[in-house]
Amino acid sequence: MYGAIFGDIVGSSYEFRETEKTKLFRLFTEESRFTDDTVMSLAVAKALIEAGPSGDEKTVKERLVDNLVNFGRSFPDAGYGKMFKAWFMGENHEPYGSFGNGSAMRVSAAGWLFDSVERTREVARWTAEVTHNDPEAVKGAEAVATVIFLARNDWNNATIQHYIQREFGYELTRSIEDLRKDYEGDATCANTVPQAIRAFLEAEDFEDAIRGAVSLGGDTDTLACMAGSMAEAKFEIPEEFKEEVRDRITPNMGKLLLDYENIVQKLEERRDVLLQIHNFSAEHSKELLMPVLNALDIRMKAGCLFFMPVELPEEETAKLQEKFPKGSVIPLARDLHPQRRSIATNDGKRWLAAFTSVSEGNKRDAETYYVGEPIGFTLQACMQIADCAGVVINAWGERFFFTREMIEIFLSKKEPEVQDDQAER
Ligand SMILES: [Mg+2]
Repeated sequence: MYGAIFGDIVGSSYEFRETEKTKLFRLFTEESRFTDDTVMSLAVAKALIEAGPSGDEKTVKERLVDNLVNFGRSFPDAGYGKMFKAWFMGENHEPYGSFGNGSAMRVSAAGWLFDSVERTREVARWTAEVTHNDPEAVKGAEAVATVIFLARNDWNNATIQHYIQREFGYELTRSIEDLRKDYEGDATCANTVPQAIRAFLEAEDFEDAIRGAVSLGGDTDTLACMAGSMAEAKFEIPEEFKEEVRDRITPNMGKLLLDYENIVQKLEERRDVLLQIHNFSAEHSKELLMPVLNALDIRMKAGCLFFMPVELPEEETAKLQEKFPKGSVIPLARDLHPQRRSIATNDGKRWLAAFTSVSEGNKRDAETYYVGEPIGFTLQACMQIADCAGVVINAWGERFFFTREMIEIFLSKKEPEVQDDQAER
C-alpha cells in the first residue's frame, strides 16, 4: 500500500495543472498531501481484512460500504468527486453507476490479500460494484488488482501485458513518451487505467513508474496512485519513500497501514516456497512439510513457473547462442525440442530438476538453458516418466525432494504422510 499512497501524495500537487509534461519534476512541493485515493485505499484494505480471505459477496460488500462511508465521513475534504461525496454523506448507499477511476485507485489491497487470480479478480470486482458498477469502472479495478497479483507472483512484463490485453481489451502498446503528446486526462477508468498500467510496464524502478504516470498530466494523483500500487508488486520501494508516507498520513492511518502491511507480509511468507523449504530442511517433520506443500500449491494455483534446465542438440544450441546468453530462459518454439534434465542421487534414483528461479539453477551450472513452465506441468511430466523418482527442487541450494508418492498425493489433494526416506535426506 506504500506504493499507492506515495503515488497519491506525489501526484497531488500536479493534478489537472497546466504544467509542462515531463518526468523531471520535484517529488514533493508545499502542496503535497494525501487525497481521497489514500483514504479509500485504506478503507478497502480494512474492509477486506474484516471480511476475511474467504468472505462471501454479501459480507465483503457490507464491510466495503461501511468502511467507505466511515472513512469518507472522517476525511470529508480529501478531494472526492461530487457524486461519491454525496454517496457517502447521504443515507442511500446503493451503487450509482459511476465510471470514474475511483474504483481502480482504491483497489490495491485486493491484489495482495488472495491466493489465486480468480479470487483476486472476483473481490476486485466487488470492491468496485458497491459504488462504481459501470462495466468500465469494474473492469478498471479488476485490471489493476490483476496486475498487482501477477507481478507479485513473478510474472514478467510481456506475460502480464499479454494477459491484461487479452482479458480486459486495453491497448497497452503506446509508450508513455508517445502518450504524453496527445493525452488529455480525465477522471474516468477507461482513460486512466491503461495509461497507469503502461507507466508500470515500462518503468525501470519504483520511482520511474511514479514519474512516468505524473508526466502524463491530468488526474496525476490517481494515475500515480495506480501506477505506484502496481510498481510496488515488482520493485523495492526505497525506505526514505516509505518514511515520507508515514510522515504524511495521520497516526490512525499509519496504524492501519502497519496492521495491513503485517498481514500482507505474513501471507507472503506463507506463500514463500524457499522459506518453507528452509524451515523443513531444519527438522523434516510433517508439521513443516505441510507448509512447503501449501506454498507450492498456492504458487501452482497462482500460475507460477518452475525453471527447468534443458538439453538441446548441438546445432540448436549454436543457433540460440546468438540470441540468448547461456544460463537464461529460452522461449519455447515449435521447432525446438528441449529435453528436460534429470539428476541422479547416490542411490541411483533419477529426479527431474526444477528451480524456483534461474539464479537458483545457475548456482552450479550456468552453461545450460532453461524453459519456464507452470509448476503443475512439471509435476505431471514427472509422473509420466516411468523411472522418475520425483522432482528435485533447487538441487544446488537448499533442495527439496518432491517424491513421486508425494506428488501423486499432492495432485490428488490428499494429506501426505512424511515418507521415511524423505525424512532421512
Ligand atoms: Mg485524489
